[in-house]
Amino acid sequence: MKESDMIDHRRLGRDLELFVSDPLAGAGLPIWLPAGAAARHAVEEYVRELERRAGYRHVYSPPLGKRELFELSGHLGYFADDMFPPMRLSADDEFVLRPALCPHHALVFRARGRSYRELPLRVAEIGGMYRAERSGVLGGLSRVRAISLNDAHNFCALEQVGDEVREILRLIREAHAALGVRPAGFRLSLRGPGEKYVGDDADWARAEELLRAALDGVDYHEGPGEAAFYGPKIDIQIVDAAGRESTISTIQLDFDKPERFDLSYTDADGRRKRPVMVHRSLVGSMERLFAYLIEVHGGAFPAWYAPVQLVLLPVDDGQAGAAFELARRAEAAGLRAEVEPAGSLGARIRDAARRKVPYVGVIGRREAADGSVALRLRDGRGLDPMPAAEALGLVGAVVAARSADLLPPG
Ligand SMILES: [Zn+2]
Repeated sequence: MKESDMIDHRRLGRDLELFVSDPLAGAGLPIWLPAGAAARHAVEEYVRELERRAGYRHVYSPPLGKRELFELSGHLGYFADDMFPPMRLSADDEFVLRPALCPHHALVFRARGRSYRELPLRVAEIGGMYRAERSGVLGGLSRVRAISLNDAHNFCALEQVGDEVREILRLIREAHAALGVRPAGFRLSLRGPGEKYVGDDADWARAEELLRAALDGVDYHEGPGEAAFYGPKIDIQIVDAAGRESTISTIQLDFDKPERFDLSYTDADGRRKRPVMVHRSLVGSMERLFAYLIEVHGGAFPAWYAPVQLVLLPVDDGQAGAAFELARRAEAAGLRAEVEPAGSLGARIRDAARRKVPYVGVIGRREAADGSVALRLRDGRGLDPMPAAEALGLVGAVVAARSADLLPPG
């Protein structure tokens, strides 16, 4: 699909009932409706599974914390303009909504003594954080104030950083392929002139050199002045329906927070050493990811994260029982299925097409009698009636393979 043909995700989000932005809830605070939540849940499960298989350990941490935590992390010093004002419970007890997960993940590392044998230690979470965006820039899911970030902090020995960054790039490519993300470009963000950076020059030079080495063979461009305040980074960019570029995936090196949180591990020689912290996100925030996925797929998600995967249509009342029974079997097999029992068959088929449901199963008198179903695919292809178990197997195979096509290979 060409960029100019893409439909704004806000319109599709409304038409497909994926999310709602209610002024009473507040600008930049969208609510995910059941269809959007089902799709997001499938994507979150996938991301966690991908990470688990790659040696990540998931945690839960709260979206707010004591003011002192964010003073120590440097966020209140460098980032206060983007944060909500602190909440005061008493004179010496102030809390802030976190603008990032790193401080909590540093505390996970610090929860006990660490050995070199545990590195890289990969702490992951799809966690909540907040940005005090001005109301004028907010819209749909692409700019929000409450963010659910696919985040991780990989604590490494310095000599492990190159391999770790290459492995993260591999995971990013795998996640993009499964989701249908088509990156517009890779960017290596470096220091620019100015004084908003922390850490010493030698560390910066080394970090920039490590990232350049990890990008060997990748087509990228360098962005001086675009680094985070604590280290250089690799950003992977996407372009939305309006032609605006934003970052979907990121890998950021950080020599600063391990210093601030006094993080250390015991090396093989028994000496205490400082780890390097690698902040990384494979697919960014769930909000910006879905703003993009809704647009790039025109709402027609791959079957594995389609909100409803199979709609069953009894031709008339006599087959309603067979349709509900098949829906129950589909759900028991882990699929998201619904029955639409009422209305003309043509209108129900058009409605399923409007909702971008990947599979429609029509059950007439003959199918109800012999336990079969005739599948129609979202792209217009129709299959001959087949036994219900075979139809569920077909849909299940496409979902399990996270295939973009609606028919299993071969
Ligand atoms: Zn971080």
